[in-house]
Amino acid sequence: MRIFLSHDASAHDIGKALERAGELAGNPLSVRLDTSGDCLSIEIRTNGNPIDPAAFSSLTGVDRIEDPEPVYHLSSSGTPGTRAIEIPFAGVSIGSENFVVMAGPCAVENDEDLLETARVAKNAGARILRGGAFKPRTSPYSFQGVGPEGLEMLARVREEVGIGIITEAMEPATVGAVAEIADIVQIGSRNMHNYPLLKEAGQAGKPVLVKRGMSATLEEWLGAAEYVLSEGNPDVILCERGIRTFSRHSRHTLDIGVIPVIHERTDLPVIIDPSHATGKASRVPAMARAAVAAGADGLLMEIHPEPSRAMSDGFQTLSFDEYNTLMSELKLIADAVGRKI
Ligand code: PEP
Ligand code: MN
Repeated sequence: MRIFLSHDASAHDIGKALERAGELAGNPLSVRLDTSGDCLSIEIRTNGNPIDPAAFSSLTGVDRIEDPEPVYHLSSSGTPGTRAIEIPFAGVSIGSENFVVMAGPCAVENDEDLLETARVAKNAGARILRGGAFKPRTSPYSFQGVGPEGLEMLARVREEVGIGIITEAMEPATVGAVAEIADIVQIGSRNMHNYPLLKEAGQAGKPVLVKRGMSATLEEWLGAAEYVLSEGNPDVILCERGIRTFSRHSRHTLDIGVIPVIHERTDLPVIIDPSHATGKASRVPAMARAAVAAGADGLLMEIHPEPSRAMSDGFQTLSFDEYNTLMSELKLIADAVGRKI
């Protein structure tokens, strides 16, 4: 941000503007008085943290303020509150008073397990069934998902149980097939920077959930959302799933603190994935409860009839008993913060 001072600004005016800049930047080293132009200006380097220009507009001696164009602008409608994203088949809107739970296996495995999981998920209050047909795995030797057949299984269970579907699209060529059966198209953490995929998803005609890259800053994450939004699709949901930090005690560090920041800076709904963040089933309930209390708009979590035989991510997957207990706790917390499950 650059504050241009008027030609008749007094030494007192300049001093006041510098003082204000120092306060807002939080570090005197990020403020510099530039004398090189035909009028004095104050440059503030905030490293992406926004400063409200209104903080300077009332000072005498200030001529104008220039703020570089933000990299994202469609993620905010300019009106307060969160945009509501309708999921008609599931009868909910994400980003409203509904706290939307999406639960299911890491990967679609077979019809029988999927059907049972969908019923249990729905009975306890989940409106969306999760499950990947295409799995982005760290190792090429790990189970890669059952592929297109998994989409057919999801489509059958969707009709039979009456539950919405979220499933991942891994490459531009399969976005169309995923969007045909899914109520929400998921973009995985590893693909958050895959811009051709994001653009394709933006044209899919379905809401898109953009998972945060595991090493992505908020700005990079919002930039990814902007790729989808700029294709004309306003229905973008953000999903925090843990990031890499210096901490080694947990698979990833769940950035709960990003929830209020997203609500301050954008009007996109944000949901939390406590399963991939913690990497351990015993830690999922605590993070899920925290997510509701912290103002998240929903949860994405892994459940399975028998986590120990899940073909992927079994160790972070809740059993049905654990899931049912958690859901009854989440309902109490949701109630206390004015949300409905
Ligand atoms: C998933 O949700 O299926 C998944 C692979 O998670 P992530 O992209 O966050 O690793
Ligand atoms: Mn998983």
